Formats: sequence, C-alpha cells, structure tokens
Amino acid sequence: MKRSEAGALWVPTHFAKNAKWMGRQGRGLREASKIDAGNLMTEIRDTVILGSGCAGLTAAIYTGRAGLKPLVLEGHEPGGQLSITTLVENFPGWPDGIQGPELIQNMKKQAERFGATFQLAHLNRVELGAHPIRLHTSEGEIHTRTLIVASGASARWLGLPSEQALIGHGVSSCATCDGFFFRGKEIAVVGGGDSAMEEALFLTRFASKVTLLHRRESFRASKIMLERAMAHPNIELRTNTVVEEVLGVEEKDVRGLRLRDTINGEVCELAISGLFLGIGHDPNAKMFAGQMDLDEDGYIKSTGNVLTTRNGVVVPGVFACGDVQDRRYRQAITAAGSGCMAALEAEKYLEEHAH
Ligand code: NAP
Repeated sequence: MKRSEAGALWVPTHFAKNAKWMGRQGRGLREASKIDAGNLMTEIRDTVILGSGCAGLTAAIYTGRAGLKPLVLEGHEPGGQLSITTLVENFPGWPDGIQGPELIQNMKKQAERFGATFQLAHLNRVELGAHPIRLHTSEGEIHTRTLIVASGASARWLGLPSEQALIGHGVSSCATCDGFFFRGKEIAVVGGGDSAMEEALFLTRFASKVTLLHRRESFRASKIMLERAMAHPNIELRTNTVVEEVLGVEEKDVRGLRLRDTINGEVCELAISGLFLGIGHDPNAKMFAGQMDLDEDGYIKSTGNVLTTRNGVVVPGVFACGDVQDRRYRQAITAAGSGCMAALEAEKYLEEHAH
C-alpha cells in the first residue's frame, strides 16, 4: 500500500497496476478531502458514517445539519455506484437527468456545508458492543456514539482465473471509467440486468460493436432498458451463453473469449478487445459478521427500516442504510431515503441517551 502526501491511504487496486487505467478508485481518491488523521482518537464522536455513496452522503447532510459533525469514512469506492454511472434520469428534481458523479459531488458539497468531514480509511475491525463503539481503521482507532453503516455493494466478477489475470488489461467492471480505451474496438458485456444494459449502451459511444452475453433466455433488466439495448444498431444480444475463458493471458491483453452455448453445449471463440462485467454487486458487510445479523447473501438484516440487530436484538446506536441492507429496491432515491432515516434515528438515539 502507498500513502499520499497527505497521509491518506491509497487502497491497492487492480487498475493501479497499469497507469493507463484510471478506474473509479484512482479518481475518487484524488478528489476526496482529508482531515488530520492524527486527531481521530482524541475525541468521542457523535456519529461516524461508513461509506460515501448516496445513502452515506444523505446521512451526512442530515446529521451535519443536526449539528452532529459527522465523520464520513470513504473506502475503496468513494462516491459509491453513482460515481461510476452516467446519466441518472429518475432522481426527482432533475427533469433532464443528471450525471451520477455530479449528483454525488453536489451531495458531498451539501454535506460539507453542514460540517461533515471526510477521511479515506479502511475499516479493519469493529467493536459494536463497546460503548462508545470502536472502529479500528487503517488511519487509527475511532470512537463514536453512533455508527451509520452505508458501505454499499461492490461489483461482482465471474471468478475465472483468466478474467482475474486480465483485470486492468482489457477486463473491467466500470464502463464509465474504462470505456474510453476501447474507441473503435469490438467489446463484450456480460449480464442480463439493468447494469449490463446501461454499460452496453454507454460503451456504444466508444466501441464499434458491443456483444451483450447473457447466461439465460430471459432478462432481469427493466423493459425500457432492454428495449433500448435491443434497438441499438451496434449492440448484439446473445442469450444462453456463458464465458468459459478470457483469451489473451499470455499476451497480457484481451484478444477474445471462449464461449459456451448452454443449450447445445457448442463452444466458440469471439474476437474482442475488452470485456466488461455487469453482473450485479455484493454487499460490503463481511466485517460485521458475528456482530450483526446478515442474510444468506450477506446483506444486513435491518428492522424498523434502518435499525440493526444481533440475534434479533437491536444493536444500540448502529444503523444501516442503502444497498448494504437493501436487496429489493437498490435505487439512488431509496438509498438516499434510507440514509435520511438512519440519520434521524441516530439523532433520536443520541437525544434519548442524553449525550
Ligand atoms: P441484477 O439485476 O442482479 O442483474 C445481474 C445480472 O447478471 C443478471 O442477469 C444475472 O443473471 C447476471 N449474473 C449474475 N452473476 C452472473 C455470473 N456469475 N455469470 C453470468 N451472469 C451473471 O443486477 P444489476 O443489473 O446490477 O441491477 C441491480 C439493481 O440496480 C436493479 O434493481 C436495477 O434495476 C438497478 N439498476 C438500475 C439502473 C437504471 O435504472 N438506470 C441501472 C443499473 C442498475 P440471471 O438473470 O441469470 O440471474
């Protein structure tokens, strides 16, 4: 791991291995504001927010405005999923849509206006049962009366050794970060949900052809997104198709895919220069296992919208919001709404416990 001149942690990323790839992590780290890491332990904070996506930033706006001086811990994906998306057309208030990164920057400015501070840090361990709650981070130990968990969800990978070997060399999970490198080239996108449709449509700005590969016949994507992808002249949809291998490991550059038809078992090769994954996300809640109830897929099981539990009993002062606890809606507006709820609950908790 490397540190910036300001002492903030540089999280190792696959993209950092190759200077031409400036993925989401690199961009976010440069933009994040920093506080003096040396002061982290000197006080007991009223509230710490884990995550700086839509949910975390909304919680920061509300707790900031309530005078709680929230500290927002930014992990390896600052700004969350909105920071790597393109046009957001369904967030109320922008009749013509707004770019995801701009929406996030606006929320961050709004939170800072109300006294929120931001710190790049990796959470190594938590003690949720301690009073105050203890957070052991890469930047030191932090003590807080309330914790709002808004750590979101991270992109999934297929898990093929060849895919992992070529991340940063033609394999990516972030079309907005890396699409630019594929101008005039043929590429493939894997997935059958809205993310895959969005990535495929976005990538047509650069690529000469996008082949969308989906493992089943029917799609999870919303009708409007699927129809847009199907109608695009530069997108070809191939269903019942799985990727068996990404070709180009020896050359350290993607040159194609070995595909298998799941109906007839036929194997073929597809010549492409880039592979983008749009196969969903996993919740970032592993560090809470054993201290908080998680469901079978690792999402935080919340009760009363944003209260967390351990063995069914509410964990005092610890709230969860956004995608880390929402497997059903997973929208920017619902994440923001739950961030607001978590902030109001934290405020109420602090009042009731006479801090
Ligand atoms: P998703 O809806 O869970 O879709 C994931 C897709 O990836 C599914 O089609 C799934 O296939 C496929 N998949 C998963 N693991 C795979 C594997 N190992 N190999 C091959 N394929 C695999 O996830 P999402 O597309 O990220 O969307 C999540 C939520 O965000 C949804 O509610 C969506 O509406 C929302 N969203 C909205 C927008 C928008 O409105 N602009 C954009 C992005 C996301 P199966 O279908 O076979 O399971």
